Amino acid sequence: MNFGLKFRLTALVLVMVLIGALIALVTINFERQEAELRSRLNQLESESYSISEQFKDRLRGVSDRLMRYRTEPTEANWREFLIAGHSLESWIDSQDKAHNTKHEQDILQQIDAAFDSYLDNVQALRAASVSSAETNNLLLVPSSATTQAYRRVSDMGQELAAAHLDLQSQILSNAQNALLQLRVSVLSLLGLLFLFGVALAMMVYRDMITPLQIRLLESEALAERREKLAALGLLAAGVAHEIRNPLTAIKAALFIQKKKLLAGSPERDDVDAVEREIVRLERIVNDFLQFARPAEPEFTVISADLLLLEARMFCAPQMERSNIEMILEPCEPMQVRADPAQCKQVLINLIQNAADSIGQNGKITLRARADRKSFGNGDQPVVILEVSDTGKGIPPEVRKRLFDPFFTTKDNGTGLGLSIAARIVQKHGGELQYQTEVNRGTTFGIILPRIIE
Ligand code: ADP
Repeated sequence: MNFGLKFRLTALVLVMVLIGALIALVTINFERQEAELRSRLNQLESESYSISEQFKDRLRGVSDRLMRYRTEPTEANWREFLIAGHSLESWIDSQDKAHNTKHEQDILQQIDAAFDSYLDNVQALRAASVSSAETNNLLLVPSSATTQAYRRVSDMGQELAAAHLDLQSQILSNAQNALLQLRVSVLSLLGLLFLFGVALAMMVYRDMITPLQIRLLESEALAERREKLAALGLLAAGVAHEIRNPLTAIKAALFIQKKKLLAGSPERDDVDAVEREIVRLERIVNDFLQFARPAEPEFTVISADLLLLEARMFCAPQMERSNIEMILEPCEPMQVRADPAQCKQVLINLIQNAADSIGQNGKITLRARADRKSFGNGDQPVVILEVSDTGKGIPPEVRKRLFDPFFTTKDNGTGLGLSIAARIVQKHGGELQYQTEVNRGTTFGIILPRIIE
């Protein structure tokens, strides 16, 4: 797994854990608030109920004392009436603390005022009765002012309970709003968590499962190709071996004949043509043999630029004839563990293909650059030997079969160059890669493990 992918996966998982923790926190908060609200509502309900009940009881108490005084107008009964009245007054004052809303405070003040006026009324009536010596008469027939004051106090008591209940419904609706907001937050967080989960699944699928599937398909195709090649190689090796011996004999006989013929004579031209074809046949047979029985590399530690330099020297005369400029880019000193002869062979093959693609007049650039590459056992430093050309590029239909043995687009090609090159590079623990653009050119790269001293 590369660093970027690891980083993205870790970041995503962290974000998901964070969202999960947030959801847990919000849910805990949600439950706490709900419990608090429930108990507050219960408390309010019982408070409202007890307030109206207490008020009614006390008011009834005052009224009962007055009744008793009317029927039995003794000083003791009058005092009891006054005590009940004062007790209700101080109860009203004490409610100040329990009732905090403006509305409740207003009602309490009104109750206070109404009860005061009720008491004043009753006291005035009693005073009038005492002075006119008609003690009972006046209090026995309650004045409309006293009755009104009493009713007003009683109504106010109901209003106070209703105001308290109002507060309850206000708290309830506030709490409902808060809970709704909490619910929306939880749902949004869950949605976010779901989205991140989907992103994580997609990332895992795209960056981890898909490459594995591709690698599996590739290795299946490779195994199949190897099997085919093994069978084909065996056959080719047998045939090539049989052809090589007679070819050597023909070549030797031709050499003797050539010596007997005059240069420029038609016979000599024919012999030259036969000789050229024999050389071609020899090349094909040698390619076959090498393909069928690849030699094991003999490793030494060698500098990358030396490999490029030698390949360039070998190809320079041919490139000059085709007016192809060969550039060797300067590079930092880098060592590779390789079989110099085999690597040179691969480089020459790539240069030859580049030259074939250019035809006449163009440029081939050779360079070595340092990089890092993962070969299944983690990231490791590599050197990439590159051959860039300004040729025709490789069209998509050719790309598909580029490394197939015997696949060629050339009249005199064997189609074995790239498959042999790829196999040699693989035996070096490396890889052969390419980038191409039709009508712009191609860059082949030989990736070799770098030796760092
Ligand atoms: P051969 O050179 O005998 O055809 P190769 O295996 O070396 O066999 O190459 C196979 C085919 O790949 C070539 O016929 C050619 O079509 C294509 N090819 C290889 N190298 C290049 C290149 N640098 N530019 C364009 N086409 C290329």
